[in-house]
Amino acid sequence: MKVLVINTGSSSIKYQLYEMPESRGLAKGVVERIAEEVSKLAHYFAGKTHAVETKVQTHEEGMELILNTLVSKEVGVIEDISAIGAVGHRVVHGGEEFTGSVVIDDEVIASIEKFAGLAPLHNPHNLTGIKASQAKLPNIKQVACFDTAFHTTIPEVAYMYALPYDLYEKYRIRRYGFHGTSHRYVARRAAVLMGKDKYDINAITCHLGNGCSVTAVRQGKSVDTSMGFTPLEGVVMGTRSGDFDPAILFYLTDKGYDVKSLNALCNNKSGLLGISGISNDMRNLEELARKGNTRAKLAIDIFCYHIKKYIGAYSAVLDTTDAVVFTGGIGENSVWVREQICADLTQTGVELDSTANEAALAKEADISTAESKVRIFVIPTDEEAAIAHDTYELAG
Ligand code: AMP
Repeated sequence: MKVLVINTGSSSIKYQLYEMPESRGLAKGVVERIAEEVSKLAHYFAGKTHAVETKVQTHEEGMELILNTLVSKEVGVIEDISAIGAVGHRVVHGGEEFTGSVVIDDEVIASIEKFAGLAPLHNPHNLTGIKASQAKLPNIKQVACFDTAFHTTIPEVAYMYALPYDLYEKYRIRRYGFHGTSHRYVARRAAVLMGKDKYDINAITCHLGNGCSVTAVRQGKSVDTSMGFTPLEGVVMGTRSGDFDPAILFYLTDKGYDVKSLNALCNNKSGLLGISGISNDMRNLEELARKGNTRAKLAIDIFCYHIKKYIGAYSAVLDTTDAVVFTGGIGENSVWVREQICADLTQTGVELDSTANEAALAKEADISTAESKVRIFVIPTDEEAAIAHDTYELAG
């Protein structure tokens, strides 16, 4: 059975076609700059790249372009779209309602619409992708996989904020957590690497990309995570601040900032970019820091320090930790960041092997010393494969 995985953003659709149950990737790509003057398609298949500039006005047209590309004689990988057995969609927010992936029906669509207020930058676009896909592939099952679902096992003591309780009752203000598909995927891979059952692992999973979050996984289930009501809370990110004293916002209001500018400040102008004043990209910051740029170095130092604090806190939450896992663009690739986070963590049983760390670039590796009480893994995340797996299970 072939499963198409779709991840829709405001002006883009990423796609990946899998042969299931083997999870063999047949093709992947992205349609970008939808509704702009010139749109772009990048399509990867059989080790080749096909890139075109064209005009795509709507997400529905984007879906049409993807399907036409997948069946094209020159660059396609299937003869007819009827070969696609199901479509899996990434959906950012499933509120408290969705504890796992589900087959999409009218009720599910209504719920995703309901949660759009909680994820205004994501859910409406995810929904646009679902509707475009339903329009083009009306007779096959469509499945929604929620970023929040893995975190619905977090206990009340960890998901409630110390705000008036009626805010939770009225507005469902609580910690939801994000990147769930990634945390679940790498926690399960870590269990496999340790020869354990997926429900027999205690792990601290660090998804470090442009967005970053750290999760405490007890017996295979999420019991706490650093992102909260929105993906703004937690550790330092590319352009997001992570944790800080909310009173700073009141203070800035007095200085003339309004809600819109504060939102932009925290989400788009803070984090690595805000501290360094130069870039949100870890590669750039490492290069600049090596050349002596002190602000780039400070940004990396603060980034690593915050993650180290979360690892310490979650070690206490878990009591015993089997593994710390690094994933995401930074987690998978940055030797520097992993080294700095793991330095002086021996009290929590974490001991990095520097040579193994240097060799672990974008591939699965155990980077802990033989003596380390806690295994340290680099595990490239594969959210699409996890979505394809759920979709196959539900629609197969
Ligand atoms: P993601 O959002 O998962 O694609 O991750 C993006 C982040 O990963 C950016 O900050 C990149 O600079 C960072 N990244 C990617 N490759 C490397 C690398 N080789 N070394 C350090 N950071 C990297």
